[in-house]
Amino acid sequence: MSESVEIVTIGDELLLGTTIDTNAVFLARALGEIGVPIARRATVADDPDEITDAVRQALERTGGVITTGGLGPTADDLTRPVLARLFGRELREDPAIVAALHALWASRGRGGALPPSNLQQALVPEGAEVLANAQGTAPGLKLTDAQGRWVIMLPGVPRELRHMTTTHIVPWLASRGSGTVLRSRSVRTTSIAESALAEKLGPMKREVEGLPLAYLPGHDGVDLRVTARGLAAEESTRRLDAAVARIRETVGIHAYATDGVSMASVVLDLCVARGDTIAVAESCTGGLLGARLTEVPGSSRVLLGGVIAYSNAVKEQELGVSADDLEQFGAVSEQVAVQMARGVRGMIGATIGVGITGIAGPDGGTPDKPVGTVWIAIDVRGETTARVAIYIGDRAEIRHRATQVAMDLIRRALLAS
Ligand code: AMP
Ligand code: MG
Repeated sequence: MSESVEIVTIGDELLLGTTIDTNAVFLARALGEIGVPIARRATVADDPDEITDAVRQALERTGGVITTGGLGPTADDLTRPVLARLFGRELREDPAIVAALHALWASRGRGGALPPSNLQQALVPEGAEVLANAQGTAPGLKLTDAQGRWVIMLPGVPRELRHMTTTHIVPWLASRGSGTVLRSRSVRTTSIAESALAEKLGPMKREVEGLPLAYLPGHDGVDLRVTARGLAAEESTRRLDAAVARIRETVGIHAYATDGVSMASVVLDLCVARGDTIAVAESCTGGLLGARLTEVPGSSRVLLGGVIAYSNAVKEQELGVSADDLEQFGAVSEQVAVQMARGVRGMIGATIGVGITGIAGPDGGTPDKPVGTVWIAIDVRGETTARVAIYIGDRAEIRHRATQVAMDLIRRALLAS
Protein backbone atom coordinates (compact mmCIF):
# COMPACT_ATOMS: atom_id res chain seq x y z
CA MET A 1 0.00 0.00 0.00
CA SER A 2 1.30 3.41 -0.85
CA GLU A 3 0.01 6.23 1.27
CA SER A 4 0.58 9.92 1.44
CA VAL A 5 0.58 12.27 4.35
CA GLU A 6 -0.24 15.92 4.94
CA ILE A 7 1.70 18.20 7.24
CA VAL A 8 0.17 20.98 9.32
CA THR A 9 2.70 23.19 11.08
CA ILE A 10 1.25 25.35 13.82
CA GLY A 11 2.49 28.66 15.17
CA ASP A 12 1.97 32.40 14.72
CA GLU A 13 5.72 32.82 14.33
CA LEU A 14 5.68 30.70 11.16
CA LEU A 15 3.04 32.88 9.52
CA LEU A 16 4.83 36.05 10.62
CA GLY A 17 8.00 34.76 9.03
CA THR A 18 10.06 35.22 12.18
CA THR A 19 10.66 31.45 12.33
CA ILE A 20 11.46 29.44 9.21
CA ASP A 21 9.39 26.29 8.89
CA THR A 22 12.28 23.84 9.03
CA ASN A 23 10.04 21.15 10.55
CA ALA A 24 8.04 20.76 7.34
CA VAL A 25 11.23 20.48 5.33
CA PHE A 26 12.71 17.90 7.67
CA LEU A 27 9.53 15.81 7.66
CA ALA A 28 9.24 15.94 3.87
CA ARG A 29 12.79 14.68 3.42
CA ALA A 30 12.61 12.01 6.10
CA LEU A 31 9.32 10.65 4.78
CA GLY A 32 10.47 10.92 1.19
CA GLU A 33 13.36 8.63 2.03
CA ILE A 34 10.85 5.89 2.89
CA GLY A 35 8.63 6.58 -0.08
CA VAL A 36 5.84 8.40 1.75
CA PRO A 37 5.21 11.56 -0.24
CA ILE A 38 3.89 14.73 1.36
CA ALA A 39 0.63 15.44 -0.47
CA ARG A 40 0.19 18.92 0.95
CA ARG A 41 1.60 21.28 3.55
CA ALA A 42 -0.30 23.90 5.52
CA THR A 43 0.73 26.38 8.17
CA VAL A 44 -1.78 27.86 10.60
CA ALA A 45 -1.85 30.30 13.50
CA ASP A 46 -2.15 29.37 17.17
CA ASP A 47 -5.91 29.55 16.81
CA PRO A 48 -8.41 26.79 17.67
CA ASP A 49 -10.58 27.21 14.57
CA GLU A 50 -7.65 27.42 12.19
CA ILE A 51 -6.05 24.30 13.64
CA THR A 52 -9.35 22.38 13.59
CA ASP A 53 -10.14 23.36 9.99
CA ALA A 54 -6.71 22.55 8.66
CA VAL A 55 -6.53 19.13 10.31
CA ARG A 56 -10.15 18.21 9.48
CA GLN A 57 -9.68 19.04 5.79
CA ALA A 58 -6.36 17.24 5.62
CA LEU A 59 -7.91 14.14 7.20
CA GLU A 60 -10.77 14.18 4.70
CA ARG A 61 -8.34 14.32 1.79
CA THR A 62 -5.49 12.16 2.89
CA GLY A 63 -6.36 10.24 6.05
CA GLY A 64 -2.95 10.78 7.63
CA VAL A 65 -1.79 14.05 9.18
CA ILE A 66 1.28 15.08 11.11
CA THR A 67 1.14 18.32 13.07
CA THR A 68 4.03 20.14 14.71
CA GLY A 69 3.92 22.82 17.39
CA GLY A 70 1.50 23.91 20.06
CA LEU A 71 2.20 21.09 22.52
CA GLY A 72 4.05 23.24 25.06
CA PRO A 73 2.97 24.41 28.52
CA THR A 74 1.75 27.92 27.67
CA ALA A 75 -1.63 29.43 26.82
CA ASP A 76 -0.88 29.54 23.08
CA ASP A 77 -0.31 25.78 23.01
CA LEU A 78 -3.67 24.55 21.78
CA THR A 79 -3.02 21.53 19.61
CA ARG A 80 -3.78 18.90 22.23
CA PRO A 81 -7.24 20.11 23.43
CA VAL A 82 -8.31 21.22 19.97
CA LEU A 83 -7.57 17.91 18.28
CA ALA A 84 -8.97 15.92 21.21
CA ARG A 85 -12.24 17.79 20.60
CA LEU A 86 -12.06 17.16 16.84
CA PHE A 87 -11.80 13.43 17.56
CA GLY A 88 -14.47 13.66 20.31
CA ARG A 89 -12.15 12.50 23.08
CA GLU A 90 -11.87 13.63 26.71
CA LEU A 91 -8.48 14.68 28.06
CA ARG A 92 -7.18 12.69 31.01
CA GLU A 93 -4.08 13.29 33.07
CA ASP A 94 -1.58 10.47 32.53
CA PRO A 95 0.16 9.66 35.85
CA ALA A 96 3.25 8.27 34.10
CA ILE A 97 3.76 11.55 32.21
CA VAL A 98 3.16 13.56 35.41
CA ALA A 99 5.87 11.54 37.14
CA ALA A 100 8.23 11.95 34.21
CA LEU A 101 7.66 15.73 34.13
CA HIS A 102 8.48 16.02 37.85
CA ALA A 103 11.57 13.87 37.43
CA LEU A 104 12.78 15.87 34.44
CA TRP A 105 12.23 19.16 36.25
CA ALA A 106 14.26 17.95 39.24
CA SER A 107 17.01 16.47 37.06
CA ARG A 108 17.55 19.77 35.30
CA GLY A 109 18.28 21.39 38.64
CA ARG A 110 15.71 24.13 38.15
CA GLY A 111 14.79 24.15 41.87
CA GLY A 112 11.36 24.53 43.43
CA ALA A 113 8.29 22.65 42.33
CA LEU A 114 7.21 22.00 38.76
CA PRO A 115 5.06 24.99 37.63
CA PRO A 116 1.47 23.73 37.35
CA SER A 117 1.11 24.88 33.74
CA ASN A 118 3.55 22.13 32.76
CA LEU A 119 0.92 19.57 33.72
CA GLN A 120 -0.97 20.48 30.53
CA GLN A 121 1.60 18.33 28.83
CA ALA A 122 0.45 15.30 30.82
CA LEU A 123 -3.07 15.51 29.41
CA VAL A 124 -3.74 12.71 26.96
CA PRO A 125 -6.88 12.33 24.81
CA GLU A 126 -8.71 9.06 25.54
CA GLY A 127 -7.42 6.26 23.36
CA ALA A 128 -4.37 8.19 22.19
CA GLU A 129 -1.00 6.58 21.91
CA VAL A 130 1.74 8.48 23.75
CA LEU A 131 5.01 8.90 21.82
CA ALA A 132 7.94 9.36 24.17
CA ASN A 133 10.04 12.50 23.72
CA ALA A 134 13.58 11.74 24.81
CA GLN A 135 14.72 15.29 24.04
CA GLY A 136 12.11 17.39 25.82
CA THR A 137 9.06 17.56 28.04
CA ALA A 138 6.06 17.34 25.72
CA PRO A 139 5.38 13.82 24.47
CA GLY A 140 3.89 13.33 21.03
CA LEU A 141 0.39 11.93 20.62
CA LYS A 142 -1.28 9.75 18.04
CA LEU A 143 -5.04 9.63 17.56
CA THR A 144 -6.81 7.22 15.25
CA ASP A 145 -10.51 7.39 14.39
CA ALA A 146 -12.99 4.59 13.63
CA GLN A 147 -12.15 4.69 9.91
CA GLY A 148 -8.43 4.31 10.55
CA ARG A 149 -7.63 7.95 9.82
CA TRP A 150 -4.86 9.22 12.06
CA VAL A 151 -3.21 12.37 13.29
CA ILE A 152 0.18 12.50 14.96
CA MET A 153 0.99 15.56 17.05
CA LEU A 154 4.67 16.39 17.40
CA PRO A 155 6.36 19.19 19.34
CA GLY A 156 7.55 22.30 17.50
CA VAL A 157 11.11 22.43 18.85
CA PRO A 158 13.12 21.27 15.84
CA ARG A 159 15.58 19.12 17.78
CA GLU A 160 12.71 17.24 19.48
CA LEU A 161 10.82 16.95 16.20
CA ARG A 162 13.81 15.48 14.37
CA HIS A 163 14.47 12.95 17.08
CA MET A 164 10.84 11.83 17.29
CA THR A 165 10.52 11.63 13.53
CA THR A 166 13.49 9.31 13.38
CA THR A 167 12.55 7.17 16.36
CA HIS A 168 8.75 6.94 16.01
CA ILE A 169 7.38 8.21 12.71
CA VAL A 170 9.79 6.80 10.17
CA PRO A 171 9.84 3.23 11.59
CA TRP A 172 6.04 3.17 11.93
CA LEU A 173 5.32 4.49 8.42
CA ALA A 174 8.03 2.30 6.91
CA SER A 175 6.56 -0.80 8.58
CA ARG A 176 3.15 -0.22 7.00
CA GLY A 177 4.51 1.16 3.76
CA SER A 178 5.34 -0.32 0.41
CA GLY A 179 9.09 -0.72 0.91
CA THR A 180 9.75 1.99 -1.65
CA VAL A 181 11.87 5.12 -1.41
CA LEU A 182 11.79 8.61 -2.87
CA ARG A 183 15.23 9.80 -3.92
CA SER A 184 16.77 12.46 -6.13
CA ARG A 185 20.14 13.06 -7.72
CA SER A 186 21.32 15.99 -9.75
CA VAL A 187 23.78 16.94 -12.43
CA ARG A 188 25.12 20.48 -12.05
CA THR A 189 25.70 22.56 -15.15
CA THR A 190 26.95 26.07 -15.71
CA SER A 191 27.36 28.57 -18.55
CA ILE A 192 24.53 27.01 -20.53
CA ALA A 193 20.89 28.12 -20.70
CA GLU A 194 17.95 25.91 -19.66
CA SER A 195 16.59 25.95 -23.19
CA ALA A 196 19.94 24.92 -24.66
CA LEU A 197 20.14 22.07 -22.16
CA ALA A 198 16.67 20.86 -23.13
CA GLU A 199 17.70 20.91 -26.77
CA LYS A 200 20.86 18.94 -26.08
CA LEU A 201 18.90 16.39 -24.06
CA GLY A 202 16.48 15.88 -26.94
CA PRO A 203 14.31 12.84 -26.20
CA MET A 204 15.56 12.84 -22.59
CA LYS A 205 14.45 16.38 -21.93
CA ARG A 206 11.49 15.37 -19.75
CA GLU A 207 12.38 11.88 -18.61
CA VAL A 208 15.60 9.91 -18.24
CA GLU A 209 15.56 6.18 -17.50
CA GLY A 210 11.85 6.59 -16.84
CA LEU A 211 12.53 9.21 -14.15
CA PRO A 212 11.12 12.73 -14.41
CA LEU A 213 13.70 15.45 -15.02
CA ALA A 214 13.50 18.89 -13.39
CA TYR A 215 15.43 22.02 -14.39
CA LEU A 216 16.51 24.06 -11.37
CA PRO A 217 18.19 27.32 -12.35
CA GLY A 218 20.19 29.09 -9.64
CA HIS A 219 23.17 31.39 -9.24
CA ASP A 220 25.61 28.58 -9.97
CA GLY A 221 23.90 27.52 -13.18
CA VAL A 222 21.17 25.01 -13.91
CA ASP A 223 20.94 21.83 -11.84
CA LEU A 224 19.26 18.92 -13.63
CA ARG A 225 17.46 16.81 -11.06
CA VAL A 226 16.06 13.32 -11.56
CA THR A 227 13.71 11.83 -8.99
CA ALA A 228 12.80 8.21 -8.41
CA ARG A 229 9.61 7.52 -6.48
CA GLY A 230 7.68 4.37 -5.74
CA LEU A 231 10.72 2.13 -6.38
CA ALA A 232 12.59 -0.19 -4.04
CA ALA A 233 15.87 1.24 -2.75
CA GLU A 234 18.14 -0.84 -5.00
CA GLU A 235 16.17 -0.26 -8.16
CA SER A 236 15.98 3.44 -7.41
CA THR A 237 19.77 3.68 -6.94
CA ARG A 238 20.39 1.74 -10.15
CA ARG A 239 18.09 3.96 -12.21
CA LEU A 240 19.32 7.21 -10.67
CA ASP A 241 22.95 6.28 -11.29
CA ALA A 242 22.15 5.33 -14.89
CA ALA A 243 20.21 8.56 -15.42
CA VAL A 244 23.02 10.69 -14.00
CA ALA A 245 25.54 8.96 -16.24
CA ARG A 246 23.40 9.47 -19.35
CA ILE A 247 22.79 13.14 -18.55
CA ARG A 248 26.47 13.80 -17.93
CA GLU A 249 27.37 12.09 -21.17
CA THR A 250 24.84 14.12 -23.16
CA VAL A 251 25.51 17.48 -21.55
CA GLY A 252 29.26 16.97 -21.80
CA ILE A 253 31.63 19.73 -20.72
CA HIS A 254 28.80 21.90 -19.38
CA ALA A 255 28.23 19.44 -16.51
CA TYR A 256 30.75 20.13 -13.78
CA ALA A 257 29.55 18.05 -10.82
CA THR A 258 26.80 15.93 -9.34
CA ASP A 259 24.60 16.43 -6.29
CA GLY A 260 25.96 18.82 -3.66
CA VAL A 261 29.50 19.16 -5.02
CA SER A 262 30.63 22.78 -5.55
CA MET A 263 32.46 24.28 -8.51
CA ALA A 264 35.25 25.35 -6.14
CA SER A 265 35.97 21.79 -5.07
CA VAL A 266 35.87 20.56 -8.67
CA VAL A 267 38.43 23.18 -9.72
CA LEU A 268 40.65 22.53 -6.71
CA ASP A 269 40.64 18.77 -7.37
CA LEU A 270 41.59 19.34 -11.00
CA CYS A 271 44.44 21.62 -9.98
CA VAL A 272 45.73 19.13 -7.42
CA ALA A 273 45.66 16.36 -10.02
CA ARG A 274 47.66 18.47 -12.47
CA GLY A 275 49.97 20.24 -10.08
CA ASP A 276 48.47 23.66 -10.78
CA THR A 277 48.26 26.58 -8.36
CA ILE A 278 46.02 29.66 -8.49
CA ALA A 279 46.45 33.39 -7.82
CA VAL A 280 43.49 35.75 -8.03
CA ALA A 281 43.20 39.44 -8.93
CA GLU A 282 39.72 40.63 -8.08
CA SER A 283 38.15 44.00 -8.70
CA CYS A 284 34.33 43.91 -8.64
CA THR A 285 34.21 40.61 -6.73
CA GLY A 286 36.39 42.04 -3.94
CA GLY A 287 37.83 38.72 -2.76
CA LEU A 288 34.73 36.58 -3.27
CA LEU A 289 36.54 34.19 -5.59
CA GLY A 290 39.26 33.72 -3.00
CA ALA A 291 36.59 33.22 -0.33
CA ARG A 292 34.75 30.59 -2.37
CA LEU A 293 37.94 28.68 -3.05
CA THR A 294 39.11 28.81 0.57
CA GLU A 295 35.72 27.56 1.77
CA VAL A 296 36.89 24.12 0.67
CA PRO A 297 39.15 22.36 3.18
CA GLY A 298 42.57 21.66 1.75
CA SER A 299 42.45 24.62 -0.67
CA SER A 300 45.85 25.79 0.57
CA ARG A 301 47.44 23.23 -1.72
CA VAL A 302 46.15 25.23 -4.70
CA LEU A 303 45.25 28.82 -3.85
CA LEU A 304 48.46 30.74 -3.18
CA GLY A 305 46.99 34.21 -2.71
CA GLY A 306 45.63 37.24 -4.48
CA VAL A 307 45.12 40.97 -4.73
CA ILE A 308 41.89 42.89 -4.27
CA ALA A 309 42.58 45.39 -7.05
CA TYR A 310 39.57 47.63 -6.64
CA SER A 311 41.16 50.94 -7.61
CA ASN A 312 42.98 51.70 -10.84
CA ALA A 313 46.04 52.63 -8.79
CA VAL A 314 46.27 49.12 -7.34
CA LYS A 315 45.69 47.57 -10.75
CA GLU A 316 48.58 49.64 -12.10
CA GLN A 317 51.02 49.58 -9.22
CA GLU A 318 50.56 46.06 -7.87
CA LEU A 319 49.61 44.15 -10.99
CA GLY A 320 51.38 46.14 -13.68
CA VAL A 321 48.24 46.97 -15.67
CA SER A 322 49.12 49.60 -18.31
CA ALA A 323 47.98 53.13 -17.44
CA ASP A 324 47.41 53.77 -21.12
CA ASP A 325 45.12 50.75 -21.46
CA LEU A 326 43.18 51.76 -18.36
CA GLU A 327 42.75 55.19 -19.92
CA GLN A 328 41.98 53.99 -23.44
CA PHE A 329 39.83 50.88 -22.83
CA GLY A 330 38.57 51.55 -19.30
CA ALA A 331 38.96 49.42 -16.15
CA VAL A 332 36.26 47.03 -17.36
CA SER A 333 37.88 45.74 -20.52
CA GLU A 334 39.51 42.67 -21.98
CA GLN A 335 42.94 44.31 -21.92
CA VAL A 336 42.73 45.11 -18.22
CA ALA A 337 41.31 41.69 -17.21
CA VAL A 338 44.09 39.91 -19.11
CA GLN A 339 46.79 42.09 -17.59
CA MET A 340 45.35 41.54 -14.10
CA ALA A 341 45.46 37.74 -14.62
CA ARG A 342 48.99 37.84 -16.01
CA GLY A 343 50.17 40.32 -13.39
CA VAL A 344 48.92 38.40 -10.38
CA ARG A 345 50.23 35.10 -11.73
CA GLY A 346 53.72 36.55 -12.07
CA MET A 347 53.64 38.45 -8.82
CA ILE A 348 52.55 35.43 -6.78
CA GLY A 349 54.26 32.75 -8.80
CA ALA A 350 51.22 30.55 -9.51
CA THR A 351 50.62 28.47 -12.64
CA ILE A 352 47.16 30.04 -13.08
CA GLY A 353 46.22 33.71 -12.73
CA VAL A 354 42.66 35.03 -12.70
CA GLY A 355 41.55 38.61 -13.35
CA ILE A 356 38.00 39.81 -12.75
CA THR A 357 36.84 43.35 -13.49
CA GLY A 358 33.25 44.47 -13.91
CA ILE A 359 30.35 46.67 -12.90
CA ALA A 360 28.39 45.06 -10.05
CA GLY A 361 25.97 47.97 -9.75
CA PRO A 362 23.54 49.29 -8.89
CA ASP A 363 25.33 52.43 -10.20
CA GLY A 364 28.19 52.88 -12.60
CA GLY A 365 26.68 51.44 -15.77
CA THR A 366 26.99 53.15 -19.14
CA PRO A 367 25.19 52.46 -22.44
CA ASP A 368 28.06 50.36 -23.80
CA LYS A 369 28.98 48.85 -20.42
CA PRO A 370 25.73 48.35 -18.53
CA VAL A 371 25.54 47.15 -14.91
CA GLY A 372 26.44 43.47 -14.87
CA THR A 373 29.18 43.73 -17.49
CA VAL A 374 32.13 41.67 -16.28
CA TRP A 375 35.38 40.79 -18.02
CA ILE A 376 37.05 37.66 -16.72
CA ALA A 377 40.47 36.49 -17.86
CA ILE A 378 42.60 33.52 -16.95
CA ASP A 379 46.26 32.96 -17.64
CA VAL A 380 47.14 29.28 -17.55
CA ARG A 381 50.91 28.83 -17.78
CA GLY A 382 51.15 31.84 -20.09
CA GLU A 383 48.11 31.10 -22.24
CA THR A 384 45.33 33.64 -21.72
CA THR A 385 41.60 33.36 -22.30
CA ALA A 386 39.14 36.18 -21.69
CA ARG A 387 35.40 36.28 -21.67
CA VAL A 388 32.83 39.03 -21.20
CA ALA A 389 29.25 38.64 -20.13
CA ILE A 390 26.44 40.82 -18.90
CA TYR A 391 25.01 39.16 -15.82
CA ILE A 392 21.51 39.93 -14.66
CA GLY A 393 20.56 40.25 -11.04
CA ASP A 394 21.44 42.40 -8.08
CA ARG A 395 24.94 43.20 -6.89
CA ALA A 396 25.29 39.96 -4.91
CA GLU A 397 24.08 37.83 -7.80
CA ILE A 398 26.37 39.53 -10.34
CA ARG A 399 29.38 39.06 -8.09
CA HIS A 400 28.52 35.43 -7.37
CA ARG A 401 27.95 34.58 -11.04
CA ALA A 402 31.25 36.19 -12.01
CA THR A 403 33.17 33.98 -9.59
CA GLN A 404 31.33 30.91 -10.86
CA VAL A 405 32.26 31.73 -14.44
CA ALA A 406 35.87 32.44 -13.48
CA MET A 407 36.16 29.01 -11.89
CA ASP A 408 34.40 27.43 -14.84
CA LEU A 409 36.90 29.03 -17.24
CA ILE A 410 39.74 27.44 -15.27
CA ARG A 411 37.94 24.08 -15.28
CA ARG A 412 37.36 24.15 -19.02
CA ALA A 413 40.92 25.24 -19.75
CA LEU A 414 42.39 22.45 -17.62
CA LEU A 415 40.11 19.80 -19.13
CA ALA A 416 41.04 20.95 -22.64
CA SER A 417 44.77 20.96 -22.02
P1 AMP B 1 5.86 25.04 20.21
O1 AMP B 1 5.94 23.54 20.23
O2 AMP B 1 4.76 25.52 19.35
O3 AMP B 1 5.83 25.61 21.58
O4 AMP B 1 7.20 25.56 19.52
C1 AMP B 1 8.41 25.64 20.23
C2 AMP B 1 9.46 26.35 19.39
O5 AMP B 1 9.79 25.55 18.27
C3 AMP B 1 9.02 27.69 18.81
O6 AMP B 1 9.41 28.76 19.58
C4 AMP B 1 9.74 27.76 17.51
O7 AMP B 1 10.98 28.42 17.72
C5 AMP B 1 10.03 26.34 17.14
N1 AMP B 1 9.16 25.90 16.06
C6 AMP B 1 7.82 25.64 16.12
N2 AMP B 1 7.36 25.20 14.94
C7 AMP B 1 8.42 25.18 14.11
C8 AMP B 1 8.58 24.81 12.73
N3 AMP B 1 7.55 24.38 12.00
N4 AMP B 1 9.81 24.91 12.19
C9 AMP B 1 10.85 25.34 12.94
N5 AMP B 1 10.76 25.69 14.23
C10 AMP B 1 9.56 25.62 14.82
MG1 MG C 1 3.99 27.48 19.37
